[in-house]
Amino acid sequence: MPNIDLACFICGNKSFSVVYDKKFKVLECNNCKYGIMNPLPLKEDLDQIYNSVQYFSEHMQYDYKKLKPSEINDLVLRIGSFHYNYLSKFISTIKSIFEIGPGGGFNLKFFADKNINAEGIETSTISTEFAKSKLKINLINSSLEDFNNSAEKKYQVVMLNHVLEHFIDAKQAMMKIKSLVDENGYLYIRVPDHNSYDRKAQKENWPAYLPYHISYFSQKNLVLLLKQFGFTIIDIYYYVSDEFMKKYPPFIRRPMVKALELFKAEKYFNGRTITILAKSW
Ligand SMILES: [Zn+2]
Repeated sequence: MPNIDLACFICGNKSFSVVYDKKFKVLECNNCKYGIMNPLPLKEDLDQIYNSVQYFSEHMQYDYKKLKPSEINDLVLRIGSFHYNYLSKFISTIKSIFEIGPGGGFNLKFFADKNINAEGIETSTISTEFAKSKLKINLINSSLEDFNNSAEKKYQVVMLNHVLEHFIDAKQAMMKIKSLVDENGYLYIRVPDHNSYDRKAQKENWPAYLPYHISYFSQKNLVLLLKQFGFTIIDIYYYVSDEFMKKYPPFIRRPMVKALELFKAEKYFNGRTITILAKSW
């Protein structure tokens, strides 16, 4: 039975359903569909995972220490231009960016190279050392929970790319995140979409069910959460699921994506990630 003391931190509702029960358990709020791991993991156990070699080889898809300079440059360009181009559609001049959990810091390096003030915090010591020594970026080795922004610095863009789902206390995290966003600044979040086509198709084998993913968000509860923290939604972006596309022959896939975009139907066939850009007021 779900923990009866549990109340959804987003909508306050107290009734939950078990939606995943394999390597750990996920309860989903029956009202806003926010999912949470139950019971919660221990911070010490998570810290150990984030500093393990396996985490980088399996989850991050590359082992930093083995990267050649040309491969590092390719990652900076590929990852950085992706985020820069997306943000530039909505923000005419990007002046500063603070990334929470940037991993090896490839994205921050791209912004720094454009003379944008690029800073961040990273909980993994291995990643921080790599980013500082190889990319020379301004990164502090700290979890968000322990981060002390004593100078009360604020940033035009605060970014979390597949990070918000990792916090044990997502409400505390949101309060800290909000305090880092400048007045009229932006919050850029990408998380696994628990309401995605992928999750429904792959069920308990959905790859985002991971022992360090505490929160399971989707559009409805993310919008609610951001509004509660004083944000206006600027954009919500979906990808068409590879899981969906692979059922069709390759030559038909591209036109199909175009057609789905034309009819704004991507969200019914959305892949793993949901992207939200919100503005503070
Ligand atoms: Zn809820």
